[in-house]
Amino acid sequence: MSDTVRTRFAPSPTGFMHIGNLRTGLYAYLFARHNGGKFILRIEDTDRERTVEGAVGMIYRTLKAAGIEYDEGPDRDGGVGPYVQSERADIYKKYAEELVERGGAYYCFCTKERLETIIGENGTHTYDRKCRNIPLEEAKARVAAGEPYVIRQKVPDGVVSSYKDMVYGEISVSSDDIEDGVLLKSDGMPTYNFANVVDDHLMGITHVLRGAEYLSSTPKYNLIYDAFGWERPHYMHLPAIMKDATRKLSKRYGDANFEDFIAKGYLPQAVVNYVALLGWCPKSGDEKMTMDEMIAQFTPDGVSVSSSIFDEQKMKWLNGEYLKAMTEDEFYAVSLPYIEKGVAGGAYDKREIARLMQTRVDVLGEIPEKIAFLGDFGEYDLSMYEHKKMKVDLEVAKKAVEVSISALESLEAWDEEGIRSAISAAAEGAQMKGGQVMFSMRVALTGQPSTPGGAIEMAVVLGKEESMRRLRFSAELLGRN
Ligand code: GLU
Repeated sequence: MSDTVRTRFAPSPTGFMHIGNLRTGLYAYLFARHNGGKFILRIEDTDRERTVEGAVGMIYRTLKAAGIEYDEGPDRDGGVGPYVQSERADIYKKYAEELVERGGAYYCFCTKERLETIIGENGTHTYDRKCRNIPLEEAKARVAAGEPYVIRQKVPDGVVSSYKDMVYGEISVSSDDIEDGVLLKSDGMPTYNFANVVDDHLMGITHVLRGAEYLSSTPKYNLIYDAFGWERPHYMHLPAIMKDATRKLSKRYGDANFEDFIAKGYLPQAVVNYVALLGWCPKSGDEKMTMDEMIAQFTPDGVSVSSSIFDEQKMKWLNGEYLKAMTEDEFYAVSLPYIEKGVAGGAYDKREIARLMQTRVDVLGEIPEKIAFLGDFGEYDLSMYEHKKMKVDLEVAKKAVEVSISALESLEAWDEEGIRSAISAAAEGAQMKGGQVMFSMRVALTGQPSTPGGAIEMAVVLGKEESMRRLRFSAELLGRN
């Protein structure tokens, strides 16, 4: 086996890229990079019926957005391609025939109808090995005559196939419990059971990382390596990611699609970081990590055997940490599309809005709703002004709004500092509490019970002209009362 670690990510284009797939690819990437090795992308598209249009493009886009760079793949030749299984049909056929010659497989001519009856008879789905003892010359003659066939694995009798998984430890299966499964289908395409072995061998894969659903099939694959006389790779199977205590995340049910999260306003690096923590804990106990930090710390002993539950709240929190850690410029750049959506053409200072939002959202998609106060402003429910604890009622509010208007009318320095000192001075002059004025002013400026910031922040974001317009409107509304 090659001295250089080689891992691969082998997604099937059967739907979108869910968080579990992404994690498998990520761990394979981290493991390769941690060990100075190579990471390979292989598209497993032999199941034509389940192939979904556009899914391959999604795989490329997701890996790119996630910052997972492959060294070899369909568009990056490393000399062991093609890297798309549907382009490797000749290779599988050649190796299946070679395996027949070596005594590790055989031609099977059983019809679908016959297979259905034996399933009925023995009550299981196990093939009864009827064709296993057809003399090879006879079988070849039937193939040459055009009879439809499949090639099946000839599982040796009475052996125990074992291996040591890097996460789950020793796994053993008795060959008596392994069926002579199909390796090459009648359409000439391989099954996963065969293709994974041939490809991993020919592509020089040293460590196979994949979902735990393959844990107990691996002894069967190992028997194929053995029959070819090939060295087996190391294996690291990864426990499932759960939706809750009993259900797995699954792309069949539309769960947890990477691209959907990005569309909701998650940062790709935050999603990737969160996904890394689903089943892996670095020795340092770090949570927020860059890709390079993850690479430096990724060792198999930190990978847990127990399954983890996907917790969107936790991912949200982590995303918020990423947003807060950005520079103002970085945050402005990523938040701008959401701010534009929220202000819907309004003439506001978008940098001010970004500044206000940076510490107030966990996910960018929350922005439009948070700044909805910038949009429609009109008649609102005056009961919002009632605040017992602060001793604000409609009378107090009316006075407070008038005080704010006269304090701000002639103010030139329309910034936090300027507005704050003008309001405090005016409140004092009118013998009101600063809090009473601020509270009333915030309602008067927004017409909303809760806002993403206090009165001063709202005024800065609204700008002087719009603030004055709103305060006057509110004074009039209160005056009517
Ligand atoms: N194509 C398989 C899947 O998407 C990959 C299994 C493997 O990594 O060997 O589940």
